[in-house]
Amino acid sequence: MTALPDLGRPPEIPTNAVTTALALLESGRLHRYREAGGAGGTVAELERRFARLTGRRYAVGVNSCGSALYLALRAAGVRPGDAVLMNAFTLGPVPGALDHAGARPVLVEITENLVIDMGDLRAKAQASGARVLMLSHMRGHLCDLGALQALCCDLGVTLIEDCAHTLGAFWDGRPAGGFGLAGCFSFQSGKHVNTGEGGVLVTDDDDIAAQAILHSGSYMLFAQNGTVPPPGVMARWQAQCGNYSMRMGELVAALALPQLDLLAARVADWNASHDRIAARLGQAEGFVLPNRPATEAYAQSSLQFRLPGFPAHRMRAYVGAVRDAGVWLKWFGISAPEGYSSNPAHWPGAVASEVPRAHAIQATLCDLRLPLGMTQAECDAIADVLIAAAREGGGHASA
Ligand SMILES: *Cc1c(COP(=O)(O)O)cnc(C)c1O
Repeated sequence: MTALPDLGRPPEIPTNAVTTALALLESGRLHRYREAGGAGGTVAELERRFARLTGRRYAVGVNSCGSALYLALRAAGVRPGDAVLMNAFTLGPVPGALDHAGARPVLVEITENLVIDMGDLRAKAQASGARVLMLSHMRGHLCDLGALQALCCDLGVTLIEDCAHTLGAFWDGRPAGGFGLAGCFSFQSGKHVNTGEGGVLVTDDDDIAAQAILHSGSYMLFAQNGTVPPPGVMARWQAQCGNYSMRMGELVAALALPQLDLLAARVADWNASHDRIAARLGQAEGFVLPNRPATEAYAQSSLQFRLPGFPAHRMRAYVGAVRDAGVWLKWFGISAPEGYSSNPAHWPGAVASEVPRAHAIQATLCDLRLPLGMTQAECDAIADVLIAAAREGGGHASA
C-alpha cells in the first residue's frame, strides 16, 4: 500500500533563497529602506519582477495579502460605512479586509462552478449602490474575466482582485491580477510562493500605486521602491496618506525571488496532481467537480468537489471517515469555523441569508490541499480513500 503524503507540507525554500537570506541576516540590513542611500533593494527587485510577471506597471511589496486587499480598498476610495460587493466563496482575510476598511459587505452568489454569479452581481450592485467589487479567485477558480470587466464597466463598479490562489494562473492568456484596478497576492506558506507571510499589490494606476506605496509606510524614501509613479503624482498624495507600516522586509523578498523562478514548474506539478485525482473523482458515482473552461489556465494547488446527494450529517461523517483514513479533507459546510475554513455565517458584518444558493453549494463542498511533489501512486491512493468513504455512505451516518 502507498503511504499517504502530508497534505500540509509547504512549498520548499530553495537553497539559493536560503543562501541569500543568510547573507542578509549576517548584514543585518533587513529593512527595505536606507536613509543614507545605497539600498540593497531586494524588495525593489521583487516589485520590478512581479510587475513584469503580472503585466502591470506597478507592484508594491507589503506584509500580507490581507494588507494589500485593505490598501486596495482604501486607495479605491472605500471609506467606513461604504457597501462593498464580494463573492460569498472566499476565506476570512477577504471579509477581514472589508472589516478593516469599515466597509459593509454585500454578498454575491456563486455558481456551481464556484465562481461569481454575474446575474446576482448585477442585481446586488443595483440594489446596494456599491461601487467596488472585491472578487476573490477563491481556490483558483477564475470566472469569465472578460465578461466580468464588461459588466463592471456597465455597472460603474471598480474591480479589485484577490489573487491569493491564482499566482501563475491566466484567463484568456492574461495573468490573473491583470484585470482589476488592483490585484493582490499572498506569500503565506499555504500559497504558491512560501515566505511565511508577505503580499504584493499590483496595478497600472498611478494614483492607486502612489497611495499604496505611501500608506504601506515608505516615509520619504519611496524613490527606493521598485516601481514608482512620477514625482508629481507622489507629491499630490504625500500629505494625504498616513503611514500604516505594512512594508515587506528584505528577508521576505529574498525568500520569494528564487521561488518565482520555480513557479512554472510548481504549477505543472500541482496541476498534474490535481488533474489525476480530479479525473478519478469525476468518474466516481456521486462526485461533482466544477467545469474548467479552456480559456482558463489554472494553477491548482488544491482540489474541490461536491457530494450533492449528502445531507449535513452524512457530510460530517464522510469528512470524519476520510480523515480517519489519513487524508486531511476540509469542508465548507461546517457550522463552526475550523482551521482555515469558514463561510459567510462566520464573517463580521456579513448577512449569510443574502446568498442561499452559495450556502447550498458550500453545504456539500469539500476541499483538499495538494502539496508539491506528489507521486502518481500517492494521488491514486488519495482518490481511493475519497471514493471508498463515499461508497461506504460516509461511515456512521447516525452522527
Ligand atoms: C490566504 C488568503 C488571503 C490572505 O492572505 P494573507 O497573506 O494570509 O493575508 C486572501 N484570500 C484568500 C482566498 C486566501 O486564501
